[in-house]
Amino acid sequence: MSILNHIKNQKNFKELKVLVWGYGVSGKATKDFLIKFGANVTVLDYKKAEGVDYSEQDFDQSLKFDLVVKSPGIAWEHPLVKHFQESKIEITGEMELVSSFSNVPIIAVTGSNGKSTTVNMLSFALKKLKIPHFMGGNWGLPYAEILLDPQYQNAKFAVLELSSFQLELVEDFAPLVACLLNITPNHMERYSNFKEYKEAKYKIATHAQYFFDCVDLEEFEQKFDLSKAKVKGKHNVSNFAFCYRALKAAGINCDDLFQKVIEDFPGIPHRLEYAGTYQGVRYYNDSKSTNVEATITALEAFPLKEKVHLILGGKNRSEDISEFKELLKFKNIESYRFFGQAASKLEKCFENNENIFKYHDLAQVMKDLKPKVGEIILFSPGFPSYDQYQNFNERGEHFKSLLASKKADQ
Ligand code: ADP
Repeated sequence: MSILNHIKNQKNFKELKVLVWGYGVSGKATKDFLIKFGANVTVLDYKKAEGVDYSEQDFDQSLKFDLVVKSPGIAWEHPLVKHFQESKIEITGEMELVSSFSNVPIIAVTGSNGKSTTVNMLSFALKKLKIPHFMGGNWGLPYAEILLDPQYQNAKFAVLELSSFQLELVEDFAPLVACLLNITPNHMERYSNFKEYKEAKYKIATHAQYFFDCVDLEEFEQKFDLSKAKVKGKHNVSNFAFCYRALKAAGINCDDLFQKVIEDFPGIPHRLEYAGTYQGVRYYNDSKSTNVEATITALEAFPLKEKVHLILGGKNRSEDISEFKELLKFKNIESYRFFGQAASKLEKCFENNENIFKYHDLAQVMKDLKPKVGEIILFSPGFPSYDQYQNFNERGEHFKSLLASKKADQ
């Protein structure tokens, strides 16, 4: 029997030597979980830090382990993966490892876009229904940490967001309900082709009791009045529809209450978040947009009669960015403002367009913008943030603080 199956049967790690590889939020929670259930834990990370036993540089490859718990962020091409495989050490991930320790039904959500919004909608609805639950995974609390919470015993559901990287590491993970919201080529730096990425995403369905990857939007829109929703855009209609369908599949009767969920759900920060109005101009923070599809989705949320100044830029992630030309179909874009590492590529991509402006950073963009009353500033960068920021949260907060300073200077 494999070590992992033995663990799943025994529900403990007694006398097992486990290597936690990657010491981020999930790695830390996994370590606590392993220790609680009796494992002898060693931590490996790319650099030395508190709680880390070995950096990759000084890792002793002669050390023996029963199991490696790999962080989803570490690519399979990493040389140490080969070393562990050759040493016949099983490699698993947090989700697979800890899910066998829980009997609380899981509502699992994946997709290229909309995961965090949808898990938050689900949690919002469950709160309204007064159904005790936990929400986490790729969003908020790691699953291992949730399982360690004494209150978890009373939970009726765990609502989990799963990324494709997390799904690569699952085998027996068996949610009650699994949703695949949508799938578009994303993270192609990690996968050799789209098929591979799709396969990772569809792993969510393998052992799910109920699985769906589409919803009937027409039927949903006949049933509920979406015009009263606080969150904008057709994509959020789809997210609501998945949320509703997932709740129904989980056996929850929410017909009477769902209209209120639609009306009251406030959205989550950095996803087409209304940041405020300054001198008659509305500002939207969509810092979470790290690909062109997300930016297109954001643009589609505004009627064509509303003029938009679009701020784009961030970390380059591929040679060819010609897909951004698709933005030209939005005739309501008054100007394109490019910043960060991707600015030069964007400028080339949009050459011959008179409405493009290039800047070093976001502060310069915000300083230079002179929109007219009634127009919209849409910050939907379409690229990852880490050329100039730690993450998209920091980037979105910066956008909002630049707006706040404009207001303060008034
Ligand atoms: P994820 O967690 O999958 O990254 P989020 O809920 O954080 O997704 O949303 C990120 C961005 O993706 C949003 O700002 C929005 O522009 C876009 N988006 C959200 N939901 C959808 C959807 N259902 N279809 C397409 N794009 C979406």
